[in-house]
Amino acid sequence: MINPRSKLAAEFFEHGKLKSCPIFNFHAHMHDCFGLFMPRKTPEGMIQAMQETNTLMSFFCGHEGMLVPQVGVQPDIDAVRKYPDYFRSYHIVMARYLDVQADLARMRQHADVFMGFKFHGDWFEVPITRDDLKPYWEYANEHHMVVLAHTWGTSKYDGPDQVAQILSRYPNVVIAGAHGFHDAWERAPEVANAFPNYYFELTAVLDNRGALEMFLERARNGSRQVLFGCDLPWFSLHHGIGAVLSAEMSDEDRRNIFYRNGVRLLKRYDWFAPIWHARGSGESIDDICRLAPAPK
Ligand SMILES: [Zn+2]
Repeated sequence: MINPRSKLAAEFFEHGKLKSCPIFNFHAHMHDCFGLFMPRKTPEGMIQAMQETNTLMSFFCGHEGMLVPQVGVQPDIDAVRKYPDYFRSYHIVMARYLDVQADLARMRQHADVFMGFKFHGDWFEVPITRDDLKPYWEYANEHHMVVLAHTWGTSKYDGPDQVAQILSRYPNVVIAGAHGFHDAWERAPEVANAFPNYYFELTAVLDNRGALEMFLERARNGSRQVLFGCDLPWFSLHHGIGAVLSAEMSDEDRRNIFYRNGVRLLKRYDWFAPIWHARGSGESIDDICRLAPAPK
């Protein structure tokens, strides 16, 4: 077994899930995408995968919202309304088909559904810093939201320089930096050290050996600025969890990554406390926050 000294690793490899260590998946999608076969693409399929791994909640952005403006985010709203204990959504910022008024009105109307936005500079080939996206960043800043931004190391749309620019302009926004500036791994700890509201998100990080360890070594706050995610239903929760259990760090670090950072961030939302009290680890939100503060 890998990491025989880790109690969490032993538990996971023996039972296939971590009972004492729930998981928040900060990066997910849902529903059909092109003609791809993704067996767990429905809300029910995703919930099945989540229950198999003690993943309490997934935070997602549905494929229709990213691909089909005529359909938009209604399927995301429906999924959260149907399964509010399992999902919240990031409202896509569809940078080539913006309707700012309608999008922000929808955010206000469904404040219990949308926890923030999803920006994807590379998908739309639009820099996340572009002027016409400002109203979205301003809204997120005003409401202290967690925003999931696709970030790629070599990108001119959502690379480290663009993300740093946004973080310096909008200090109340928490950015979950999806893929952790993939390929420019050394930039992620630099951005983390400059901005406490930046989080290194693990989707596709874990298929590169050593990238997470480098972040933990160089980022001053180490595991306290890392969020777990796996792009469900694209990639498997079991793989993502197993990779964190196999990387070099302590079990306390793993708890930060799997759920404690999540608790610290999610307590800003009214809907969170009842879900945590019903299905969390048994630790109180206050106790978890006392271990380490999170950005306001
Ligand atoms: Zn994704």
